[in-house]
Amino acid sequence: MSARSVTRIVRGTATSDGAGVRLTRVIGGAELPDLDPFLLLDEFGSDSADDYIAGFPDHPHRGFETVTYMLDGRMRHRDNQGNSGLLGPGSIQWMTAGRGIVHSEMPEQEEGLMRGFQLWVNLPASDKMTDPRYQDIAANDIPEVEIDDDVRVRVLSGQFNDVTGPVAGVAVQPLYLDIELPASARVSPVLPENHAAFLYVFEGGLVAGDTKKDVQKHELAVLGPGTEVPLTASGEGARAILVAGRPLGEPVARYGPFVMNTPEEIQQAFADFSAGRF
Ligand code: MN
Repeated sequence: MSARSVTRIVRGTATSDGAGVRLTRVIGGAELPDLDPFLLLDEFGSDSADDYIAGFPDHPHRGFETVTYMLDGRMRHRDNQGNSGLLGPGSIQWMTAGRGIVHSEMPEQEEGLMRGFQLWVNLPASDKMTDPRYQDIAANDIPEVEIDDDVRVRVLSGQFNDVTGPVAGVAVQPLYLDIELPASARVSPVLPENHAAFLYVFEGGLVAGDTKKDVQKHELAVLGPGTEVPLTASGEGARAILVAGRPLGEPVARYGPFVMNTPEEIQQAFADFSAGRF
């Protein structure tokens, strides 16, 4: 096994999206436009309703997958195919937009803490026009592995210590772990060797990789090739998501909520959406 190293540290940029939801864009902004196959990572977190209450009213998607992992709070999802779902604390929704959906993502609370992530995962050209698909996984259905030193790993997708996460059948074979480390605790998750990978610390701090790079709260570490990712929490402990996936190596044409391979396919997406063909 070869240890991965941290090749880059990226801090997100404060922005707003939807009808005025405040969030931090970590992937998908100027500093890190994408990390094939990942197109976007937003962190949201506020206990002030003004920051999230406007939500994300009806909007379309085509050509990729949107993944919402809720840490705190509740969001209601509805779409034009008749689907509706409530995302509660600790749940994950893996939505394959495929050829197109129009949906809304609205807070189902008027006060209190709302915290989580939205990740956009690209689809290969062969799957971009597939039927839309949802994997709504409740918090209770996500396995949690406890190892020595009270290290706790929630396995949302992929494998950790022979435990397999519930999100399945995704083209890029994603790994998505939520790792909680008490002060000075260690863990070394193993990833497929050539999959793109990043770590995002959202509580505390840790050192990562074979060169023991410091990664602080609200920092994303891009990981180089290799297999295992040695992590050691700092004195205050740490919580981070570790995400990996198979790079697609295809051309990316993106415009707002549409991500295709060519500009012509983007124009077609606009034409289809305008004509009500989603
Ligand atoms: Mn959306």
